[in-house]
Amino acid sequence: MLATPAYAVADAKAKLAPFSIDRREPGPHDVLIDIAYCGVCHSDIHQVRDEWGGSIFPMVPGHEIVGKVSKVGSAVKKWKQGDVVGIGCFVDSCRECEACKSGEEQFCSKGMSVTYNGYERDANGLNKSKPTYGGYSTGVTVNEDYVLRIPVGIPLDRAAPLLCAGITTYSPLQRFGAKKGHKIAVVGLGGLGHMGVKIAHAMGAHVTVLSHSPNKRDDALKLGADDFIATKDPDAFTKNAGKFDFILDTVSAQHDYNAYLQLLKRDGTMCLVGLPDPTPLSAGPLIMGRRKLAGSLIGGIKETQEMLDFCAKHGVASDIELIPIDHINEAYERMVKGDVRYRFVIDIASLK
Ligand code: NAP
Ligand code: ZN
Ligand code: ZN
Repeated sequence: MLATPAYAVADAKAKLAPFSIDRREPGPHDVLIDIAYCGVCHSDIHQVRDEWGGSIFPMVPGHEIVGKVSKVGSAVKKWKQGDVVGIGCFVDSCRECEACKSGEEQFCSKGMSVTYNGYERDANGLNKSKPTYGGYSTGVTVNEDYVLRIPVGIPLDRAAPLLCAGITTYSPLQRFGAKKGHKIAVVGLGGLGHMGVKIAHAMGAHVTVLSHSPNKRDDALKLGADDFIATKDPDAFTKNAGKFDFILDTVSAQHDYNAYLQLLKRDGTMCLVGLPDPTPLSAGPLIMGRRKLAGSLIGGIKETQEMLDFCAKHGVASDIELIPIDHINEAYERMVKGDVRYRFVIDIASLK
């Protein structure tokens, strides 16, 4: 076992604090990654605070991991020491179900091994005696098939958030056809939202940001948005009714989905990626415009690599605030207030 410095929470009311975990020695198909940076996703906060229920403690969060391969197992073919790589939201899956075979491992019918707050897999499935620990740590051992290549040209610290915020926005934008001539709205300008703006803009769509923070207007336009709507404006929803082909909703807190659905054109789609507490939904706004409501969960390994290559090709990376790990509790407080421009990334050198 490899004793590895980390930051963990002991329970849902605790603060993140220094901790030590044991990583496994790389098996024949594993790689050991020396972590350089880890992004801070709002899902980290939801899970640390047990807002989704079922959290496993102690918890080491972090699923936007980048670093260098420091050791490879004897049978590893895909990677060598020194490769610049990343890990996203899952580290294993069954490989045999229909979802895994289609490259949609995030929907594995036997349950993927999430990067933290989950369990490792063995021959019998998820092993409840082996919790997974995430990227708020100096190193991680992972099966070679669940590792991504970070393309040359994306600064490594700004690449970390692509592993969750990037793929979570790229996948639905791709699936629902963000393209030239399409009017797309991104709701919530945070970690996911700002990546959604950059990616939709790079795909050629006309992008509007809907934000409850009026002071984010200039940033939205600089990030690539064509328009900005302050949702606190009492007329915002009537003035903009029926305007969009597609809405990507990234908001982490409860808000009225029914109001946003009214902004879709006939046959338009709103896709939820933000995961707040349950929120009431009326049939009216869907029926009256034959509108569709969808959801999307991260993306598979193949699509995540495609997203990384797309970002490198289009010069897309996350706008980040780099923090030492002992600023993490304060960063959480700021994210909950919507005060992040636009992703906190932990400099893991501060933990070494
Ligand atoms: P984030 O950086 O904290 O951004 C969330 C944004 O939501 C804020 O910047 C803010 O934007 C808006 N917001 C916050 N509180 C609000 C309120 N009370 N009313 C209206 N808007 C509010 O979070 P994130 O990391 O982007 O994550 C967003 C959500 O996506 C979280 O729920 C997370 O768990 C979820 N998520 C889902 C997936 C998936 O696969 N589906 C993957 C990753 C994350 P404005 O200031 O512009 O309004
Ligand atoms: Zn995430
Ligand atoms: Zn599977």
